[in-house]
Amino acid sequence: MTLPLLIVGGGLFGSQAAAYARRHGLAATVFDPRLPGAASPAAAGLFKEAWAGKKLKEHFQRALPLLDQLYGLRHVQLTRDDDSNESFLFVPPSAILERAPVRQQVTTIGDGWLEAGGERHEGWVYVAAGVWCEQFHAGLQITGKAGASYVFDDERAGQIRSIARGRQAISFTRDAGTTFFSDGTAESDFTPAHDCQTLERASALGLSGAPIQRHWGRRPYTPGGPVFMKIGARTWLATGGRKMGTILGASFARQLVEEELRS
Ligand SMILES: Cc1cc2nc3c(=O)[nH]c(=O)nc-3n(C[C@H](O)[C@H](O)[C@H](O)COP(=O)(O)OP(=O)(O)OC[C@H]3O[C@@H](n4cnc5c(N)ncnc54)[C@H](O)[C@@H]3O)c2cc1C
Repeated sequence: MTLPLLIVGGGLFGSQAAAYARRHGLAATVFDPRLPGAASPAAAGLFKEAWAGKKLKEHFQRALPLLDQLYGLRHVQLTRDDDSNESFLFVPPSAILERAPVRQQVTTIGDGWLEAGGERHEGWVYVAAGVWCEQFHAGLQITGKAGASYVFDDERAGQIRSIARGRQAISFTRDAGTTFFSDGTAESDFTPAHDCQTLERASALGLSGAPIQRHWGRRPYTPGGPVFMKIGARTWLATGGRKMGTILGASFARQLVEEELRS
């Protein structure tokens, strides 16, 4: 009998694993109580090969077919201050995130089971709990680096402005009818001053007026790069998505389903 896949966390990592498992005929249940500080709702969803660099190139290449099959790759052109353009791929988190996860916090896991809402569930277990993974597997040394993103009314032309080496402020239509803004702020000690600075940068790109949404999330960083590991005969864990959670979540979903569950 094939076991169901039980997923702890419905962010970009857990949601893609669930969707890909179902695509391969497996039953998948996602548990997520929507904890404040989850990274995925704040993500722009942008990616490009140059950002992945040599270290993450393999993940980038593994991710693209999954993202295209399950959600459809989108293309966007952002305009720099000198009027030149830069192209990106993106998939909005709204297309990826599990729509109706079980809104329960997983309290305990063991090998091939978990407990949530006072009930025990048996199956394959995938821990995809972002910065909270440490509570299920000690020693990961996860650091959360926080940033806020803002959504403004109306669609406006996509823009990109360099802030520092490898860091940009970007605005574009991530979801229809609105304009998304983020500036790459990634702080272990996030303060209201960081929020003010982000809003000032949005205003400098012409996004004035009150935003209609604010998302604040902690990107998971693990020493030595992203982590996918088998922690029991029927239990796996993945985290460390940092600024590349869309492609890393997709790459690890393939690894889990193709190499672990179906082998
Ligand atoms: C402002 C900002 C912009 C970003 N832009 C991009 C971008 O353009 N492109 C990109 O690829 N990445 C981007 N990122 C990074 C990306 O968001 C992260 O790498 C990614 O979201 C990490 O996904 P995750 O599923 O590991 O973690 P999370 O999204 O944090 O999800 C973990 C989930 O686990 C749940 N959980 C925790 N504990 C439990 C429990 N005990 N039981 C059940 N559920 C639990 C939480 O509620 C949470 O929803 C951005 C991040 C931020 C903050």
